[in-house]
Amino acid sequence: MSAPNPQLLLPSWLATAAENLPDAGLLPEGAVLVEGGTIAAIGPAKDLIGRFPNAERVDLSGHLLMPGLINLHTHAAMSLMRGIADDLPLERWLQERIWPIEGHIVSPDFVFDGTVVAAHEMLLGGVTLFNDMYFFPQASARAVLAMGMRAVVGLPVIELSTPYATGAADCLRKGLECRDMFRGEEALQFALAPHAPYTVSDASFREVVGLSAELGMSISCHIHETAQEVNDSIAQYGMRPLARLEQLGVLNPDLVAVHAVHCDARDIDRLVKYDVNVAHCPHSNLKLGSGIAPIAAMLAAGVRVGIGTDGSASNNRLDLLEELRSGVLLAKGSSQNAAVWPAHQALRSVTIDAAQALGVNRTTGSLEVGKSADMISINFSGASTQPVYDPVSHFVYCSGRDLVADVWIRGQYVVRKRQVVSEAARRTVEEVTVRQALWHNSIGELVKAGQ
Ligand SMILES: [Zn+2]
Repeated sequence: MSAPNPQLLLPSWLATAAENLPDAGLLPEGAVLVEGGTIAAIGPAKDLIGRFPNAERVDLSGHLLMPGLINLHTHAAMSLMRGIADDLPLERWLQERIWPIEGHIVSPDFVFDGTVVAAHEMLLGGVTLFNDMYFFPQASARAVLAMGMRAVVGLPVIELSTPYATGAADCLRKGLECRDMFRGEEALQFALAPHAPYTVSDASFREVVGLSAELGMSISCHIHETAQEVNDSIAQYGMRPLARLEQLGVLNPDLVAVHAVHCDARDIDRLVKYDVNVAHCPHSNLKLGSGIAPIAAMLAAGVRVGIGTDGSASNNRLDLLEELRSGVLLAKGSSQNAAVWPAHQALRSVTIDAAQALGVNRTTGSLEVGKSADMISINFSGASTQPVYDPVSHFVYCSGRDLVADVWIRGQYVVRKRQVVSEAARRTVEEVTVRQALWHNSIGELVKAGQ
């Protein structure tokens, strides 16, 4: 079988988010040549049409072409629990609703099906890679592969006994087995995912740090999500969670600190000192009443910030574009400074900055020669986005996920004109849709029974 012809994508606007630039890398009338799933050339359309006259041309007039979006924190499988526990603060949400139901229902089948539902939603919203944290990571990994996406699959670590594992040591053993199982899968990376400072012991954190250094895995951990978490830590350990994690060696450039809502000036100094990345999840923080993270101060101090949706049981949407817009507006409003988090920087936050935070930027996160052709097109030809003066401004302040037209991963269309076109992904979604009714019934029964 011969390789498919190289394709020349011709959008009205191109935003590369290239690594060495300070902004979105906007190139009006730019073009991208894709060959064998990889970006082979980038430049002005006129030049590339001349250099590659035989390439198949893909007309994307009226569209912005840019890197696929990266969801820096989610629990994909929790999509099956969307809407079962609203209007509760984090502690009651977890302890009274989520953990008891998970104790009854979580299994590899639950995780596979829930992750497919989430992946479908995310793909249609322009997400090509997500950083996941959930039980039975091997089932999430299989779902990601079936949907043709990319993921950093978090290997969960929690002291509690769950349907997945008897405790943290069992979690780590099973997690490493899972990582071995998928060795060589180009679409998957694995990360260590200690749940939170209040559910993971000092000894387990030390173990996680050692494995991260030894195996080159990033770490994702919920940190300083609520005021109660910080106060409880002071009562139990005599220090704030970030100070404890500093002592345990957890703070380093491989760490993604998820939430970081309750951070004072010393906490932000720690994030800067150790080059820690932050996954900002504004809607989950708002809905659970946790607070608003001081992102303006973090950005001013030079902290790398990406955006996460968190899971569907606390958001309840996996809409990264909406999350970005809210995050940017909250940062401006809460700091009373309209200059904070400008649009060009915001585009980088959900692409190359997130890729760097996860250590996957050699492969993806920007449109640069040699990287995987993981791209989305956004259609600006409709009434809500006319006229276009600055497509980067439109991306952040004006777009919705319904304007994401096409999604390519490794140069292959996964979504085309807002429809999933990958045969494998379509079949997988159809199968899961049938089973979703069963999950709905059994989870509904647990909710009714007060579990
Ligand atoms: Zn979370």
